[in-house]
Amino acid sequence: MNEALHPAMQPHFDTVVARNPGESEFHQAVYEVMLSLGPIAGQRPQYAQWSILKRICEPERQIIFRVPWVTDKGEVEINRGFRVEFNSALGPYKGGLRFHPSVNLSIIKFLGFEQVFKNSLTGMPIGGGKGGSDFDPKGRSDAEIMRFCQSFMTELYRHIGQYTDVPAGDIGVGGRELGYLFGQYKRITNRYESGVLTGKGTSWGGSRVRKEATGYGTVFFAQEMLKRQGESFDGKRVVVSGSGNVALYAIEKVHQLGGTVIACSDSNGYLVDQNGLDLEQLKDLKEVRRERLSAYRADTAHHVTEGSIWDVECDVALPCATQNELNETHAKTLVSNGVRLVAEGANMPCTPDAIKVFQAGDVLFGPGKASNAGGVATSALEMQQNASRDSWSFDVTEERLQQIMRDIHTRCVTTAEEFGDPGNYVAGANLAGYMKVADAMVALGVI
Ligand code: NDP
Repeated sequence: MNEALHPAMQPHFDTVVARNPGESEFHQAVYEVMLSLGPIAGQRPQYAQWSILKRICEPERQIIFRVPWVTDKGEVEINRGFRVEFNSALGPYKGGLRFHPSVNLSIIKFLGFEQVFKNSLTGMPIGGGKGGSDFDPKGRSDAEIMRFCQSFMTELYRHIGQYTDVPAGDIGVGGRELGYLFGQYKRITNRYESGVLTGKGTSWGGSRVRKEATGYGTVFFAQEMLKRQGESFDGKRVVVSGSGNVALYAIEKVHQLGGTVIACSDSNGYLVDQNGLDLEQLKDLKEVRRERLSAYRADTAHHVTEGSIWDVECDVALPCATQNELNETHAKTLVSNGVRLVAEGANMPCTPDAIKVFQAGDVLFGPGKASNAGGVATSALEMQQNASRDSWSFDVTEERLQQIMRDIHTRCVTTAEEFGDPGNYVAGANLAGYMKVADAMVALGVI
């Protein structure tokens, strides 16, 4: 975070840091948005008023709770649960739940803050929130996962609802966890309130394409960026970090569009296959057997535990694992290896210094707020289907997703141009997302 903020923004950022001590990820997310809001201070000062900024940086509500549960051996474990309801100017709070040992208030606040602007950018009527727990699902039995989810929901249920706050999945929370969470909500409330959670299974109120949506959406967004340069995915060598929900479906869509994904990773290392990864084997490994990538087998593939996945030469890089996984050094390696485009499938995977390297190196850079918004947008489509008790086909839903990603791309491009910074997707996404939320907050008064 070396670049100076606009003088009108710096005091506001200093106040956020002082009010939220030690929350480095949250500071970073606020810094990134404020960096982009510089031009607004000069060109449309009404948007930069401290009264809006001050409120937008303070979550509307922050809930922290104890989650007690019993292991298969009969031992009592205690985890911490979080739900940060950040901003509801545009609609009910909307954002996923993350189960990972690294989860703390700073991480949930950064994710919730990002979510506010991302959801605004989708053009759909959803506010922003995020939640989760420091629970580590790795190595836990199905029964342990179920007991944990039931205990988590036994507190969370009183804070959520289809018109209030609608959680979904994120790292460590997929279809299995959402099933247990929804089951417990239904049991406690005695209501089949489908719209209270998204990412549900398609046989019990879920939307087709939701599972695929974040990965597909990231690739659709990148496709629009390439198209604007007269290029396409055809023949491109692509590196995708992670091998979870977002990564697997980003790989699927790249392959469908004629690119070749030559590497992916998990937290134990990365896998390289210059002939292209075998997606069916990856899905079986990660979605069915829940194993490590080192168990992948192919004659032309090798598993690496040293260095970084960003050392692999590629045309397109899609970071789809976690925050701050791609730093300045990684960015320099990617640029010197000739990368043309980086689009974030994860939330804040690139550090601010890495983003500067890409922008200085003329690499097309798509920020997660825009490029990974397909997941939450399809969640909003799931809410629409739940409200009308309808269920759309795969093709219809995918077409809606693709159109939403095209619209987000256009919104970023036109806003960046309007503010005199053509081609800067970070500025376009932050400015467009911010202005819509700010307009609504002004209209609703000081609440
Ligand atoms: P999953 O839990 O399905 O997958 C996460 C992947 O990232 C796994 O391969 C995991 O490896 C790897 N990973 C996680 N933490 C680390 C770490 N500290 N170091 C290295 N690798 C790590 O999560 P998702 O795919 O759902 O989410 C990935 C990212 O996308 C997150 O940033 C999330 O916030 C973001 N996102 C997700 C959306 C969704 O719809 N799911 C929507 C928008 C954004 P391992 O198994 O070894 O832990």
